[in-house]
Amino acid sequence: MPELPDLEAIQEFLLRELVGSRVSSVEVLQPIPIRRPTPEEFVRQLTGNLLTSVSRRGKFLLLSMESGHVLALNPMLTGRLQYCDARERRRARTCFILAFQGGRQLRYFDAKLMGKVYLVEESRTREIPRWEEMGPEALAPQVTLEVFRQRLRRHPGQIKNILVNDTFLTGIGNAYADEILFAAGVYPFRKRTSLSQEEAEALFRAMRQVLEEATTIVSSRMGDDIHVKIRDFLRVHGKGGQACPRCGGSVSQITANQRLTNYCHTCQPRLP
Ligand SMILES: [Zn+2]
Repeated sequence: MPELPDLEAIQEFLLRELVGSRVSSVEVLQPIPIRRPTPEEFVRQLTGNLLTSVSRRGKFLLLSMESGHVLALNPMLTGRLQYCDARERRRARTCFILAFQGGRQLRYFDAKLMGKVYLVEESRTREIPRWEEMGPEALAPQVTLEVFRQRLRRHPGQIKNILVNDTFLTGIGNAYADEILFAAGVYPFRKRTSLSQEEAEALFRAMRQVLEEATTIVSSRMGDDIHVKIRDFLRVHGKGGQACPRCGGSVSQITANQRLTNYCHTCQPRLP
């Protein structure tokens, strides 16, 4: 799923390319995962509207329109935004198309229709399910080491589950949780209560470093292909069976809690 670095890069791209452009036409294709407005209303509210800003909250990309509406997209596991020319062939499961003046299109496709799309008035984003429960942004300046520690203390259970839980902090998904845990040298299934002060600090530093570096890399490489997830530079996630970049041992891969987890059993020992 797109995580903080991916969404930051997409946001930057859309700010550069599309903000200030007017939507000339809207097509809603079946099947569509839009919540709230009917497809007809979706078309009516967006057609002729001007895109005034693009922002991000957690795993939502927010397209703000001149009318005061916000198109809030959470692509979940399988949704992708695509920026392309009108002539480009439509991908399977293209859910909707916003055509902008000048001929470029922003399309949303979603192989498994898992993503969530909302169109709401700006003052009503809090009505989006789970919006209010979201914790602060993982890279927000107010998330200091002390705040990180305090929030960590509220969550019991295994450390990886906490990192991907958006009531803890938002923006971290399965891939970057693996990367952060690897960078900190922490075993993903450690109980939070077993972590030392030093380990909590190492996690905090790793979180900032991993997310900041990834945002820079993804932003510089993404180009127009905003639908392509750039993950080849990750160190352990998706690298099961390959050599650990730190010790040369084999990267482990297991499925637990309905998620694939990669880690190095040497660099991230079970016991501290
Ligand atoms: Zn290793």
